[in-house]
Amino acid sequence: MVKAKEFFLFLMLFILGVFFIYIYFFIKETQEEIFVKMQKNKIEDVSFILKNIEETLVTKNSIFSEEDLVSYLSNKHNRTNYEEMIALFITPNIKYIYLLHKDPENRFRFLLDASKEDKANFYQKFDVFNQEYELVYKTLKPQIIQQQKMQNLYLTYLYPIKSSNEIIGILSVDITSNIQSEILELLKPLETFFVILIIFIFLLMLMTIMQVFHYFITRKKIFTDPLTQVYNRNYLQEITPRLNLNNYSLAMIDLDHFKVINDIYGHKAGDAILAKCSLIMKSSIRDNDILLRYGGEEFMLLLYNRDSKDNLSEIYERIRKNISSHIFTYEKHKIEMQVSIGVHEYPASEKNLNEAIKVADKMLYIAKKEGRNRIIYHKESSKTTEISNSKDIYFVKQAIEEDRVLCYYQPIYECSSGEIFKYEALVRIIDINGQIIAPMQFLPELKHTNIHYKLTKRILSLVFDKFKDSSLRVSINMNFTDLINKDIEASLIDTFSSNPSLASRVTIEVLESDEIQNSALFKEKVKLLHSYGATVSIDDFGSGYSNFKSILDIEANYLKIDGSLVKNIATNEKDFKVVKSIIAFAKESNMIAIAEFVHSSEVYDKLSELGVEYMQGYFIAKPCERLLKRSELFES
Ligand code: GH3
Ligand code: MG
Ligand code: MG
Repeated sequence: MVKAKEFFLFLMLFILGVFFIYIYFFIKETQEEIFVKMQKNKIEDVSFILKNIEETLVTKNSIFSEEDLVSYLSNKHNRTNYEEMIALFITPNIKYIYLLHKDPENRFRFLLDASKEDKANFYQKFDVFNQEYELVYKTLKPQIIQQQKMQNLYLTYLYPIKSSNEIIGILSVDITSNIQSEILELLKPLETFFVILIIFIFLLMLMTIMQVFHYFITRKKIFTDPLTQVYNRNYLQEITPRLNLNNYSLAMIDLDHFKVINDIYGHKAGDAILAKCSLIMKSSIRDNDILLRYGGEEFMLLLYNRDSKDNLSEIYERIRKNISSHIFTYEKHKIEMQVSIGVHEYPASEKNLNEAIKVADKMLYIAKKEGRNRIIYHKESSKTTEISNSKDIYFVKQAIEEDRVLCYYQPIYECSSGEIFKYEALVRIIDINGQIIAPMQFLPELKHTNIHYKLTKRILSLVFDKFKDSSLRVSINMNFTDLINKDIEASLIDTFSSNPSLASRVTIEVLESDEIQNSALFKEKVKLLHSYGATVSIDDFGSGYSNFKSILDIEANYLKIDGSLVKNIATNEKDFKVVKSIIAFAKESNMIAIAEFVHSSEVYDKLSELGVEYMQGYFIAKPCERLLKRSELFES
């Protein structure tokens, strides 16, 4: 796309340039015409004079032939008479008037010369260098000898003297005038002005061309992602104002588990695969589709939908298949890759492109959640409504980006001392209306997405910031996937090694889940935390499916009894028994039992009876944005 502004400027300059060049040549031509007219005018005047001389000389003196003329003028008296008469016509502009004749040997000779100085003698030879003299004889017509010095009028006018249609002599007049150079002198500033103007416009045009040229060569650089050689976000910005969404179907494409490639084979391998993936995608689409790298390993694709012969879902499927069937090679490794695709087939139905991207992004997350390597279309509206009723992934993603994540803190009470043992950090999100949203409204949606770890990372930084300079203890929730996440591990190690005191006051509460079965890996991570002096708690114990052996293997410090068992302990005999055996198990395994969901004095008493040292729940204190003091407990 040519930059319209530059193109318009160039056109204007071009028109102006042509106009000024026209004016310049018009002035030149007019000047020429004036000179020609002046010359004609002068010659006309002179020819009248010469005609009069001819008449007086030939008619009055009855001269009928060349011999008559020569013999008449060989008389000195006659000659002097005529020369004096002719001399009357001499002016500063008409300098010489003389009469020539051609002798039998074809040499020209002076018959009369009206000059005052250097006057030629009668019958003196006159050397002729111009063919016009002969032409007078041939054509029987006057001839003009134009001198080369054009800026001055400088010419010789040859007038034939005839008798009975035969040339008997030539009256020759030298005419000069410097009026031409005076006019030229007057016009010179105007001419110079136009020449400068034309040069100036030409330079401006050159600059505009260079600017457009520069735009075109830098354009590629600005709009292309260097790694993948597809368009980048700058290009999206550039085309958005002119993009007619009616002509496109929109997709967000994300490589599945790409992080693992970096982790296993290194960043270079990641780069190579990323580049190859974009090449495969590019070769799977058509010329009028737009593929761009939206960020990291996420691509945005606009498929042109006005080509009725193409089925767009086939193109999406082709992309997915081409990538999943390709064997990527890096050094000696053979690597497989898959993509998830979220599609909004009618992006024009949204308020703007951004909104359409959000919808496609949601579809992408559903694709991830449903097992990856698949395409989810927005038109499958049942799923869309389902997801938009709860606080969806996008809600959290936005909250993280816009810094609307915060933590509430609930005290964990130490019964024997009556002190606050520590605080549990509980995530909250402030929605765009300023409302505080509880985690059960958004955490379930996040479970298998990579947003979860991003949220955990944010919580870690919030909590660490709050507790780094105090002596208070804090618990932070994580799921197993977070715990084994390299990014999170790195930020934990970073904080713990620079602040060992903080490390010793931090407990990581890991949810009891199926993944805990992978106890070897879990154990390794627990060991790592222990090496920094941090402690580990098994969260919601009793609700999941893990067996006692694997929990034992992990060597956690705390065992948190699931709230659903605790809350009914005063009324439900079975729950009481389960809790009782969990407490016994904890004791046996060197773990400290903590009871959550302590909502009444009855539950509190029952737990005390069972010897539970640490409790947490509404009966003691509700979660609060600030850290409650001991005196503020048991207030409700
Ligand atoms: P998911 O299937 O949920 O998309 O998992 P994922 O691992 O692909 O997604 P996640 O967002 O967790 O990780 C994306 C990773 O891509 C993280 C980042 O380090 C990596 N990445 C982003 N840009 C580049 C790049 O230009 N080169 C390389 N080598 N890696 C990149
Ligand atoms: Mg990915
Ligand atoms: Mg990603």
